[in-house]
Parts: sequence; C-alpha cells; structure tokens
Amino acid sequence: MSGFKNPADLTACAFGSECDSKPGGQPEGPEICGWCKNLSPFVLSSKVAKYPKTSTLVGLVDAYKRELEQEYRRHIQERTGLFPCVTKDIGYLRPAAEDPRDFNPQSYGPCGLVLHRGSLCQRCIQRAVQIPYPRRNELFDGDMLGFPCVFRDMRYTSDNPPITPGWQFLKEKDGTPVDDWFPKGSCKRAGRKGRLCSNCYGRLCERSRFGQYFNKETGDLRADWSIKTVGKEIGKKTPGFNMSAGF
Ligand SMILES: [Zn+2]
Ligand SMILES: [Zn+2]
Ligand SMILES: [Zn+2]
Repeated sequence: MSGFKNPADLTACAFGSECDSKPGGQPEGPEICGWCKNLSPFVLSSKVAKYPKTSTLVGLVDAYKRELEQEYRRHIQERTGLFPCVTKDIGYLRPAAEDPRDFNPQSYGPCGLVLHRGSLCQRCIQRAVQIPYPRRNELFDGDMLGFPCVFRDMRYTSDNPPITPGWQFLKEKDGTPVDDWFPKGSCKRAGRKGRLCSNCYGRLCERSRFGQYFNKETGDLRADWSIKTVGKEIGKKTPGFNMSAGF
C-alpha cells in the first residue's frame, strides 16, 4: 500500500461532515481546518448556531474569533503598519449589505497582511478573480472595501472636464456653495459608489431638499444628478438605485 495521500485527504476538521471543503466533509479533528477558517466570521457563527452552546465547536469558533480580534488590535496598538486582510478584520465590521461576508476564497492557506486597512490581501484578490467573486465591483473600490463618500470622490466633485458638472446643483450662480451641504468634518467610507457616507447622510437627510438630490433611503446620488464623463455616465450603475423607489 502506498504511504502517500493527497494532502487534502489528510485535513481533518472539527466540523467533520459539515465541513464544506469537499463533498462529504472531512474526518473529524480537534481543530477547525484552514478552509473553514477562511469563511467569514459571520458565516462561521451562523454555521455553529444550530449546535448547543456547550459544544466544543462553539468554543472553537469563539476562540478563533477572539484570535482575529486580538490580531487586528495588536496591529493597531503596536503600529506595525500592517493590518489583517479585510475578510479577517473583525474591527472593520460593516452592515451586512456592505460586507463581503459571502466571499469564500475556497483555499486552505491563510490570508496575508495589507498596508491599507480595509483591503483584500493578495491571496484573496487572486481568488476573487479566479473563482470569481461577483460582488467584488459592487463592494470594493479596487481592492479597498467601500467607496469614498460622494462628497469626497473626485469623480463626482471635480468641475474640470471631462467630468462635469460637479456639484452645480449645490452652488449659487456665482459659484458660492448653497448653505452648508459640504462636510466640514471627516467622512467615512460609503458602502456604494456615488453614495453619502453615514456621517453626511445623518447630517443632511432631514433637510427639505435632500430628496431632490439623494435617494432618501440609501443616500445614493440621484441618477439625474449623476456625473457625466465623455460618453459614459459614472453614477448610472449605482447598485440598489431605483428611479421609482422613494422619491
Ligand atoms: Zn473545515
Ligand atoms: Zn485575505
Ligand atoms: Zn461624507
């Protein structure tokens, strides 16, 4: 009998037959396998939700999530200049609709570190292309999760050709800004391209003219204000935007 086995066959997993790394699962082992650890922490939590709270598996998932939490805290406290891949950065949580929790790199290997917090690591970038991951363009601006607030996005704010007309609708004829729509403080990242960040949305959404410019529910810049480049309309494909909804 040959002593060699496919490495995947040797991978045991605490999820046993519930491990999705291959059909029928893996032999039951003492640890969660690398493939399962690459699932989003949210997915892991829902995977163990059906187990009794006292089960070993629940304890293992909790311990793994604590490990992830310690990891991002360590990089911040020690100012290492590096951060965990955004898929493992528990401190970078976003609402479900803006979070890549359905991304599964389908790999046993661990994530790499990133220079800019909120980015995908090199491995995940590659896998997102190979698999492929359909929501990547919806959720990521390049490799970075989220988008600049629409007020901070040069693609929307520039008055210079080929991008026009900038924020003409928020300016008087002489070019002075209309009241105080523009943010004076800092902005957060927005969940979609062409959307207000949560700071700006909270600051502006009660204003009477808000709905003229932005979707009242989402803070997306309305399609009729979207910015036209030569032959192409940047704001037009903003996901979730619906002309008939909420205006
Ligand atoms: Zn597994
Ligand atoms: Zn990664
Ligand atoms: Zn903002």
